[in-house]
Amino acid sequence: MHAAIEVKDLEFSYGDIKAVDGVSVEVAKGEILGFLGPNGAGKSTTIKMLTGQLRPDAGSISVLGMTMPEQTVDIQARIGVCFEEKNVYENMSGRENLDFFARLYGIKHKDFDPFLRNVGLIDRADDRVSTYSKGMRQRLMMTRAMINDPEILFLDEPTDGLDPVSARAVRAVIKSEAERGAAVILTTHDMNEADQLSDRVAFINEGRIAALDTPENLKLKHGQRSVRIRSRSGGGVEEQVIALDDAGAGDQIRRAVDVEGLMTIHTEEATLENIFIELTGRGLDA
Ligand code: ADP
Repeated sequence: MHAAIEVKDLEFSYGDIKAVDGVSVEVAKGEILGFLGPNGAGKSTTIKMLTGQLRPDAGSISVLGMTMPEQTVDIQARIGVCFEEKNVYENMSGRENLDFFARLYGIKHKDFDPFLRNVGLIDRADDRVSTYSKGMRQRLMMTRAMINDPEILFLDEPTDGLDPVSARAVRAVIKSEAERGAAVILTTHDMNEADQLSDRVAFINEGRIAALDTPENLKLKHGQRSVRIRSRSGGGVEEQVIALDDAGAGDQIRRAVDVEGLMTIHTEEATLENIFIELTGRGLDA
């Protein structure tokens, strides 16, 4: 069986700017793949090629066993796309927006209530979108992307700038879509988002994939685990950080805790951001 998405050696330039420089990746059905990287890394450009909005300069794209660009229209009928651009109709209600987009797909008389309930919009479904908060609009756009029961969902920064309640609702919807069997590709510059949501994470830097693995494996392979020990010393507080993978870590820890005035001991796991910096020499801030 083919993967939901198979991409090989994708390249794209805007004039002299090489935005995507040899990206290859496969995504399975039911898998959530996170593209993690700073602004300008090439995440959106890659997604735009995968959704048929941009034509690659080089490389091949196969989606659901079909090829781009030849079968773009057939592919687009079976995918859902949620990009940051605010293209919802302000003067229509949330429900009317969904109905409008459903008709574009030839879907009529669909019951949107389960969708609206899922994202917590059911009570406001008949209000005009112009009265919605940013989080509500984003949840509406997510719902819209799912109207055709897509086999693949493409989500650009799905929870960026959302209030915690909306962010949680959006994350829950993404997870349940993957459980239903949809492949999900999302972009983010937030390591927590990538960590919490993704089955695998691709680090994107300067148009290339710098690493691709599960968050757990990335941390095991590249991350430093450490223990942070704080104790009272003289009039102040002494803090020691001991790397667990160092030789002699056990002795160091024993010595550090065998003191009067021991205050706290914390184990610290490597974060995806630490590992990103280690592998690329840069952080995730723009
Ligand atoms: P990301 O999604 O990771 O923030 P993008 O794919 O948007 O990155 O951008 C990758 C590179 O391409 C950046 O250098 C960006 O400035 C450039 N770029 C993106 N869109 C355009 C455009 N429409 N015209 C010219 N350059 C662009």
